[in-house]
Amino acid sequence: MKPIVHTHDAIIVGAGGAGLMAALYASRGADVAVVSKLYPTRSHTGAAQGGVGAALGNDEEDHWEWHAYDTVKGSDYLADQDAVDVLAKEAIDAVIELEHMGLPFDRFPNGKISQRRFGGHTNKDTGKPVQRACHAADRTGHMILQTLYQQCIKNKVNFYDEFQVVDLIREGDTVRGVIAVEMSTGDFHIFHGKAVLFASGGWGRCWEVTSNAHSLTGDGAAICLRRGIPLEDMEFFQFHPTGIFKLGILITEGVRGEGGVLLNSEGERFMDRYAPTIKDLASRDVVSRAIYLEVKAGRGVNGQNYVHLDVTPETVNHYFKQDGYADRSITREYIEEKLPDIADFTRTYLGVDPVKEPMPVQPTAHYAMGGIPTNADTEVIIDANNTVLTGLYAAGECACVSVHGANRLGTNSLVDLIVFGRRAGMKMAEFCSSAELLPLPEDSAAEVMAEFDRLLKSDGGVKPHDVRVAMQKTMTENVSVFRLQESMDQAVVDLKELREKFKQVTVEDKGKRFNTDLLETWELDCLLQLAQVTAVSAAARTESRGAHARDDYQERDDENWLKHTLCFMKEDGSFELDYKPVVIGRYEPKPRVY
Ligand SMILES: Cc1cc2nc3c(=O)[nH]c(=O)nc-3n(C[C@H](O)[C@H](O)[C@H](O)COP(=O)(O)OP(=O)(O)OC[C@H]3O[C@@H](n4cnc5c(N)ncnc54)[C@H](O)[C@@H]3O)c2cc1C
Repeated sequence: MKPIVHTHDAIIVGAGGAGLMAALYASRGADVAVVSKLYPTRSHTGAAQGGVGAALGNDEEDHWEWHAYDTVKGSDYLADQDAVDVLAKEAIDAVIELEHMGLPFDRFPNGKISQRRFGGHTNKDTGKPVQRACHAADRTGHMILQTLYQQCIKNKVNFYDEFQVVDLIREGDTVRGVIAVEMSTGDFHIFHGKAVLFASGGWGRCWEVTSNAHSLTGDGAAICLRRGIPLEDMEFFQFHPTGIFKLGILITEGVRGEGGVLLNSEGERFMDRYAPTIKDLASRDVVSRAIYLEVKAGRGVNGQNYVHLDVTPETVNHYFKQDGYADRSITREYIEEKLPDIADFTRTYLGVDPVKEPMPVQPTAHYAMGGIPTNADTEVIIDANNTVLTGLYAAGECACVSVHGANRLGTNSLVDLIVFGRRAGMKMAEFCSSAELLPLPEDSAAEVMAEFDRLLKSDGGVKPHDVRVAMQKTMTENVSVFRLQESMDQAVVDLKELREKFKQVTVEDKGKRFNTDLLETWELDCLLQLAQVTAVSAAARTESRGAHARDDYQERDDENWLKHTLCFMKEDGSFELDYKPVVIGRYEPKPRVY
């Protein structure tokens, strides 16, 4: 059967915060289609809890330059500083714009948007935490998503919900649209357009324990990789320090922002030793490594690989006093009001009441700093010379602008979505107003349809589940919080074998309607390829920087490694690395001081 063709100016893949912000802005000047495998408000942005950073200075002094400095420092100097300036500066106005769209932020008594402290966000003069995270209780992402979805509906954006994009139509130096499977029928559709934006989210599902939803399988990044676009800085994947033990479900950093502390089996607040100034609010890579080292030293609680996160008022108030915040204190009611979802999660999943007792936590795979390379205008670039692929854009977690460098600060992803989502929308509208609709190439869907046919007919007997478990195991053992050459090399070998094995997978469900078995198998191949790129990029980087921490090369090496990795996939499925310089601005790389 021939694919059904739909034509729109701008095609947006993904309906998370980045996709919806882009859709809203693009819809002011172009005919926009949002194609999403999930119903929009089920996107992972809706799970974001803690807040969105912007130097509004609503309760104490703050400046966007401080926000930019923290972001660069947090990135271990790998972020491009021109893009970071855009992020920190435009965050202010983007947050106020969301407020004006009706987003129900929490308020300070003076009526202004409430802000709380968050890891790595500081007062540049004192080095102490600053209140920069604007929040709506612990449901900030949920509110962003609902607000933007309403605005998109109002602006007559066309939504294609539960359509899974499986290929990009690229003809030389142009793009012409995407190919998608309609999940309810199994039919193929072509979305023909002048411009395409990938806003398809992350790929935490490469690891065993993750905060990421099941749907976060990196489809957009993998599709680009297959169409000759390199992926940037993939070795940098963030482990969030506080996932619920074994489950990985996230406990927001907002808990520590409100005063919560991490304690080991001896009841010691160990972050005092690892980051004497900023303590529990040190950046995520630092805290995750500290937890790992505590557990390794035998100080995991109950001899297991977790520590305690304590936000009970008794403990918090005790440490407020010790840290010199004698005027601050919290009550149980305050926690219930500020962290209702977290309290609900831990009561439901652990039977632990966080206002009365500490929560067991361990690092959880959380966020992709790397991804589809773009410039600060969200245009996708395809080589180390920053050559733009006309008409193709990327924004949000799947993109690498790069504003997060080697380690993202909490609250900076939501900022990234709204700031760069907005830029993407404006750029696309501008491009569509002058660009021609280029014709579709003959049989543009043939290749991907043949791959689906092969998957459906393959009777090799290998179960996709077994391949997925093996991939997650090798990534967890070999490419996680701490890394070694042998372990990363092992992952490269394991993943190559798993990709061979993947050729023999058998999909049990042979039907057409809602064939999630088939689609999840296709997603598994995306995850495998992204895991390969991660391991190959990591194995080559002989230094420690941000989330890439090596036992065998413990120092950051600016002389040789102050550069971005670009990883290309060749026709035969092998990988090739290239590098490009980091854009340095006001902030010269300095050694990290905690
Ligand atoms: C539990 C949790 C809490 C977090 N808390 C915070 C926080 O407090 N502050 C912060 O700054 N960041 C936070 N983050 C990170 C942040 O939420 C994410 O990085 C961000 O929401 C990603 O947004 P996105 O728009 O890029 O993609 P997502 O919101 O993940 O959306 C991806 C979209 O792409 C679509 N899609 C994917 N593949 C396909 C395909 N093949 N075809 C069609 N559509 C596709 C999906 O349907 C979905 O609509 C948190 C993340 C998690 C997991």
